[in-house]
Amino acid sequence: MRTRRRTTPIRVGDVIVGGDAPVSVQSMAKTDTRDIESTTRQINDLGNAGCQIVRLAVPDLEAASALGAIRNRVAVPIVADIHFDYRLAIAAIGAGVAALRLNPGNISRREHLRKIVSRARERDIPIRIGVNSGSLPHDYRSGERLAERMVSVAMEQVHMLEEMDFHLIKVSLKAPDVLTTVEAYRLIADRIPYPLHMGVTGAGPPFTGAVRSTLGIGLLLSMGIGDTIRVSLSGDPGLEVDAGREILGSLHLIDPGASVISCPTCGRTSLDIPGIASRVSGRLRSVRQPIRVAIMGCVVNGPGECRDADVGIAGGDNKVLVYRAGVFSHSVPPQDAYDAISAEIDLLLGIRSNETPQDTR
Ligand code: SF4
Repeated sequence: MRTRRRTTPIRVGDVIVGGDAPVSVQSMAKTDTRDIESTTRQINDLGNAGCQIVRLAVPDLEAASALGAIRNRVAVPIVADIHFDYRLAIAAIGAGVAALRLNPGNISRREHLRKIVSRARERDIPIRIGVNSGSLPHDYRSGERLAERMVSVAMEQVHMLEEMDFHLIKVSLKAPDVLTTVEAYRLIADRIPYPLHMGVTGAGPPFTGAVRSTLGIGLLLSMGIGDTIRVSLSGDPGLEVDAGREILGSLHLIDPGASVISCPTCGRTSLDIPGIASRVSGRLRSVRQPIRVAIMGCVVNGPGECRDADVGIAGGDNKVLVYRAGVFSHSVPPQDAYDAISAEIDLLLGIRSNETPQDTR
């Protein structure tokens, strides 16, 4: 891992983005913002999953006018995603959002942009310039590679804000192609002091999207680039948060909380390792204590992994070996494997069996 690029920190609600602050995880609600109940519920669910910033689409004044009520019912800072209509930005700021995502070039009249900037400055609200490869101006200079074009467009937008002496800026440069995304962020990282919001856009359904996002975001983070991340998936936004936290945890940039180690299985096991691992992962999803649970199919690698875990199970001959604090504790019949590891987790977390939380997925 390279030393992290030092950026000028900004504040999104109570989350510092950039500077020495840990890389944060964000997502975007997929509800209709005008539906206050559903949107509030989804934001709170995302917050419980570890999401630190949530963006909301604000396509019209009705959505903008819902922001105040939503904001009062959630703890996670809200970013209003605005395009074209400056009145929506003014209304969102008035509703108390923590930041805007807005491309200055989308606001057709300069005096309207000035109004937005003036209100944002009054409230100390940052603006993210979010350039996506799919929405570049058609008349842009030909001959430039896509990543260069994205950077040129972003720089123009940055200069529009800087000319108004506004510097609470964050920038993103997203494309569906991983290498284009990586190149764009690398190019701009040397040219601006502002924090970078990173992600691969249009990354696809959960499996494909998670792989592409992990590659793109992971490569950049390993180069020391990036201050906040969003994994974009065509699917449950909770998975975006899980994937984002897993990326940061895998690079030791955050303590990811509970983690599950499970083997890929082979012909040596008769245990349903995927099923058990999936149930255990679901149970531990909101656990923030740094516990390590091993779910292993047999005694080839099982005891070794269990020794490095807080609790673990390893398949054996018609039995399952249960480990506690790295030491063999007892064995149970194979059909009791999940109950056995679940009981060990309860013990570790200090949960009595009648208070055991339900699986969340
Ligand atoms: S731990 Fe055992 S069952 Fe699991 S992959 Fe390794 S050899 Fe196969």
